[in-house]
Amino acid sequence: MCFKIAAKVHNFLIKLVSSPLMILKQFKELQSFLNSPKNIVIVGHRNPDGDAIGSTLALCHYLKKKGHTPTVVVPNEYPIFLHWLPGSDATYRFDWQNSQSQRAIKKSDIIFLLDFNAFHRVGSDMQKTLEGYENDFALIDHHQEPDDFAYMYSDTTMCSTCQMVYHFIEMMGDVDLIDKDIATCIYTGIMTDTGGSFRFPTTTSTTHRVVADLIDKGVENDRIHSNVYDSNSYGRLQLLGQALRNLRVVPKLRSAYITISDKEKIDNDFKKGDTEGVVNYALSVSGITVAAIFIEDKEQGIIKISFRSKGSFSVNQFARNYFNGGGHDNAAGGRSELSMEETVEKFVSLLSNYKEEIQKSYEA
Ligand code: 5GP
Ligand code: MN
Repeated sequence: MCFKIAAKVHNFLIKLVSSPLMILKQFKELQSFLNSPKNIVIVGHRNPDGDAIGSTLALCHYLKKKGHTPTVVVPNEYPIFLHWLPGSDATYRFDWQNSQSQRAIKKSDIIFLLDFNAFHRVGSDMQKTLEGYENDFALIDHHQEPDDFAYMYSDTTMCSTCQMVYHFIEMMGDVDLIDKDIATCIYTGIMTDTGGSFRFPTTTSTTHRVVADLIDKGVENDRIHSNVYDSNSYGRLQLLGQALRNLRVVPKLRSAYITISDKEKIDNDFKKGDTEGVVNYALSVSGITVAAIFIEDKEQGIIKISFRSKGSFSVNQFARNYFNGGGHDNAAGGRSELSMEETVEKFVSLLSNYKEEIQKSYEA
């Protein structure tokens, strides 16, 4: 029986390592490093989403079960619809609880970096702290072009970092340690990172097999969907109404975009996370292949942008090339320091250079 499991894990590893989009660096060394109790810090990216919070908390619960002392440190605030996740109240916020966060980092033997590929994704303050860290980093992430770290599990074919945390635990030979809390955190990240419930093409049969196992381990999937998607405030729905009125379609470029000004946010009692997923309405217009949302952030003096696409047109490359951003082929983000009007103008005019690629990108 034991041999059978070992053979399964071995085959799984071989399959992973042979994928050109996958990097598994120093896994055995990491495994033996984790053989004795360690102080561990687990970090997710700035403006954490369901995958960042789900993956950091899942790994935290798992490492605790293995006898370690893990602490999750998030750079800043995350949406209220994720606060119910098990372990959420024990996380440190780097911006708010700076001295506790710094102390945990100083005391740690290793830092896990989850759901991001480069230090700048945690924001400039926390970036400096990470750059000054003297011990090793272990990365688990599905974004393209990751920086180099001592230990790495990077796979850009994965739908979510949460699915990778499941596979990481599997590689550690510990699937049996996945309990309801771990499974709930993993399920939430897979659900939110696949475009609102398993719809992006990165959702594979393996994803569904993982999810099936999570349900067997006690996940109440109906509750998770309800906790995340049925938690709208009145203000959030009013802001959505405004966003939909601001929707513009550019049929010749098979594109649609939404703008939200700072004033519209204030008028509708904006809270962190209220604009999450709104860009998908632009992508849901029939015949649309590229979508964007432009959200004014007066405090930072920028327009924050989310891009989405269908098919082969890579918004990751587009965001990297022109909007100081990145992400995945079909879901990426970026920023602009121009005014809203100028940003939209730049977007439309740049897109028109890709008219043919967009036409070819996706056939319904
Ligand atoms: P969202 O549009 O949902 O905020 O992000 C979509 C994807 O793009 C996520 O994987 C996110 O991590 C990534 N992303 C969002 N904003 C940025 C950014 O400014 N820079 C980079 N490199 N990636 C981003
Ligand atoms: Mn993710």
